[in-house]
Amino acid sequence: MIYTDNAATTKLLPSAFEAMKPFLFDEYANVSQPYSFSQKAKKALKEARKKIADYIGALPEEIFFTSGGTESDNWALKGVVLCDKEPKTIITSQIEHKAVLNSCLALERLGHNIVYLPVNREGVVVKEKSPCQAKSDIPLYERGCGLPRSLTTARKDDNEIKIVSVMMANNEVGAIQPIKELCQIAHEMGALFHTDAVQAIGHIPINVHELDVDLLSASAHKFNGPKGVGFLYIKKGTKIYPLNDGGAQEFGLRGGTENVAGIVGMATALKYNIENIDISISKLQTLEEIIINKLTEAKIDFIRNGSNNRIPGNISLSFKNSEGEMLLHRLDLMGICVSTGSACDSKNTQISHVLKAMNVPEEYAKGTIRISLGHNNTESDAKNIAEALIKILK
Ligand code: PLP
Repeated sequence: MIYTDNAATTKLLPSAFEAMKPFLFDEYANVSQPYSFSQKAKKALKEARKKIADYIGALPEEIFFTSGGTESDNWALKGVVLCDKEPKTIITSQIEHKAVLNSCLALERLGHNIVYLPVNREGVVVKEKSPCQAKSDIPLYERGCGLPRSLTTARKDDNEIKIVSVMMANNEVGAIQPIKELCQIAHEMGALFHTDAVQAIGHIPINVHELDVDLLSASAHKFNGPKGVGFLYIKKGTKIYPLNDGGAQEFGLRGGTENVAGIVGMATALKYNIENIDISISKLQTLEEIIINKLTEAKIDFIRNGSNNRIPGNISLSFKNSEGEMLLHRLDLMGICVSTGSACDSKNTQISHVLKAMNVPEEYAKGTIRISLGHNNTESDAKNIAEALIKILK
């Protein structure tokens, strides 16, 4: 099998598994307990928090462990917006993951106002159009509004703009967003800024301090850590409510017994990825070139989606007059795993909200697949994928 769906999930690193093992077996204590048996687990949790904080330029007390990207996104938006009783405006983009979009829809049902930023043809958020009112009966991809540049034009219906949430890198096409600039505009408007960095962390360098973001979501299984664990970075002083009401875990803000093994595995995987980021980026670029060059040489009619500034290894290809579903299944029969878009959308055979927002011509958009390369892929995988595609398409 050739696995090239690393944007959906990645293989656990052996070193992460080794680091997790003691906390699955002998050191299984609940870290909330005061007895000495819990000390090793407690120490491991503290070290993992410090390690993760160091890798993204945060303080340990700004890292809150969660069950993954979906929970972190839900918590960031609902936790901030629901701090106040009055209706608020939330600005997000048309190309967010459903974890953000559906959190916004849930907030809209509670009376909050959502503004969706459009993207350009490359899948990058447009910053300069004027804002407009989003109506819930309009499909998401048609709700394009611009991120207002000045505070005065931003005020809509006198709602306070509470938070702007734009992903760091898109999961379908890999486009990296201008987070620092967007964050600056949000702050000028008096809003907080959240970024869903699930596809970016461990793949490109990130420093929360330099970006000045207030909240950042991450998920371990996207960077060769275990599934079901992630974190939310919350800048010190940010007012946020718990999403999980319960015990006093995570500084009293996220109830639930800590997943020590998962957290230790996540910290180990992040360390490996960050320490090897340059080697990994150049290797993935080489593999990308092999695939693109072979398809081009074979005169296949395709568009590569996304901007040039994209997550290494993410190749979203739209083939003219083809069918993404058909390509996926034909490749599957040849032992190759790819996706038609985001894994969460794979049951939906229509054109994804991301490709629609990007205005990818329909005759191409329908024939879209996402190849997302990872640590385990080789040059021979890249050649085989390209040859398999050429064989199917010809
Ligand atoms: N955000 C983005 C951009 C994603 O790609 C994903 C997963 O596909 C998520 C959030 C959800 O993360 P998790 O699977 O950890 O809940």
